[in-house]
Amino acid sequence: MTETGSSSAPSLDRAALRELIAPARPAIAAACGLQAVAAVAGVVPFVAVAELARALCQPEVDGERAWTVAVAGVVALLVRLVFLGLAGAVTHFADNDLQLDIRRRMAAHLGRVPLGWFTEHNSGAVKKALQDDVEALHHLVAHSYLELTAAIVVPLVSVAYLLTIDWRLTAVTLVPAVLGVGLYGSLMRGYGQQMAAYGAAIARVNNAAVEFVQGIAVVKTFGQSGRAHRRFLAEADGFVAFFWQWVSGLLVPSALAELILSPIVALLTVLAAGAVFVAEGWLAPLDVLPFALLGLGITAPFMALNYAQQDMSLAQQAAGRIGAVLAAPVLPIAGPGGPVPADDTVRLHGVRFAYDGTTEVLRGVDLVLEAGTVTAIVGPSGSGKSTLAKLVPRFWDPSAGSVSIGGVDLRDLPPAELYRRVGFVFQDVRLLRTSLRDNIRLGDPRASDAQVEAAARAAQIHERIVALPRGYDSVFGEDAILSGGEAQRVTIARALLVEPRIVVLDEATAFADPESEAAIQDALATLAAGRTLLVVAHRLHTIVGADQIVVVEDGVVVERGRHGELLAANGRYRRLWDAAEAAADRTVDVEVNS
Ligand code: ADP
Repeated sequence: MTETGSSSAPSLDRAALRELIAPARPAIAAACGLQAVAAVAGVVPFVAVAELARALCQPEVDGERAWTVAVAGVVALLVRLVFLGLAGAVTHFADNDLQLDIRRRMAAHLGRVPLGWFTEHNSGAVKKALQDDVEALHHLVAHSYLELTAAIVVPLVSVAYLLTIDWRLTAVTLVPAVLGVGLYGSLMRGYGQQMAAYGAAIARVNNAAVEFVQGIAVVKTFGQSGRAHRRFLAEADGFVAFFWQWVSGLLVPSALAELILSPIVALLTVLAAGAVFVAEGWLAPLDVLPFALLGLGITAPFMALNYAQQDMSLAQQAAGRIGAVLAAPVLPIAGPGGPVPADDTVRLHGVRFAYDGTTEVLRGVDLVLEAGTVTAIVGPSGSGKSTLAKLVPRFWDPSAGSVSIGGVDLRDLPPAELYRRVGFVFQDVRLLRTSLRDNIRLGDPRASDAQVEAAARAAQIHERIVALPRGYDSVFGEDAILSGGEAQRVTIARALLVEPRIVVLDEATAFADPESEAAIQDALATLAAGRTLLVVAHRLHTIVGADQIVVVEDGVVVERGRHGELLAANGRYRRLWDAAEAAADRTVDVEVNS
């Protein structure tokens, strides 16, 4: 399975953006129409001023014409205001709908993505896509297309009007715009790739900084402070070199382009050329006025083109990341009304599994967990124990073979049915930033306060919760700062609330202090009592009483039986047991000697 990377290729991002904003396209088109009317109406007052000047400077003033022109100018201003407001309202409503639509699509999609997909990395990508990236589309949809329309319509209408006065001075008026836009065009070549390289360089510096800060304790302990520091400095230097090489080439041309497109240059060009035209007798002095008024309006919108290009680039990258989340593989979800499991027996039949589709982590596992019995999985680290356990609560589907409960394949069980039957507590404890009561109640939203408390008592966490200033209302991560072991007991309480018939545990208490460890063991014992239990065991002495011990090595079951039988068989389990005993003896020696 591939994890969701930052951003994909620019062409894929472009396609993703087109696909994402497709629902808003009709509204955007309509709004651009409104904006075009507003843009034309925005040029009219300038034309009116020029025409008014001409009307008033005639030897015989045509009063009626002067009034008509003045009123037309004022009406055009009002029309512009109304149409601008309408265009903005249409795109903002469309953007609202689009954001809601994308967030709903993501929520619906993520609801079908396998639980195992939600690693820390992918969860970060989801957060970024749901919040930042959906926001990044806002500017494009609500503003950029409108700005772009104005940037095109205003110069076109202005030039069309100026051509009716004098085509030669119109051509001269256009010179700064043509030069400036040409210069910007050449600057923008390769901008997308450069921005992507910029993003990657920033990410490298961020990673090096995080690694440096997070690893400071380890690095100091082992006296290698120079090493992590060096990596951060090297990445920072690399970033500065990249940025300088990119930006230094742009500084002079972009300043020049901005200068050429500035109003003062437009005005100087028109006035200088106009003076020549008048001196040569090619043009009446009054006819220079419209060029001075509208010439400014020709170059100004081109800056908007530049910003629109940047918005487009950012929106494309955001769309690429949203598209990657929406493309995460989904599990087929069974509808209600299917077969009902006959009992709580779990069967794995010929199960094979590969995270990346090629390297098999499980290579043909057959296993039966009889209802109401305890099965422990043991084996060396990396042998596939956790992967095997995670197939039971359907973190993933096997690539071959099947996992079934009471004779029903997990793929035929609706998720609600599955999670009513299967509870799990794994190493990566996930609590939400909400009250502890709600965190526990996630297991069963209809549970009463008394039931929540009973579950917390059984999970050995009630005392700790009531000792907090706000008790069960304390918010995890804010006024409820819990140790890893305590957080794990909250998740056990959550699992207890469901009263699942089948429980899958990763017996991960290595990080907990001895007191917490004992509490967790008690809580787990309560959770496991009388149920079908599958436990990934890290310390063998905790599972000597298991009904069945399964030794997994390199993705296959190499031994199975009860503790006594396996010891007597003198095989792999025996060697694991002896190694564990020897390690325990060493620990005792150290404790005695210290
Ligand atoms: P164990 O629990 O026995 O230590 P695991 O089931 O965690 O073993 O891991 C088995 C193999 O699968 C290891 O090589 C591990 O690196 C790999 N693996 C585990 N989780 C993932 C994952 N989310 N994505 C890719 N590979 C994984």
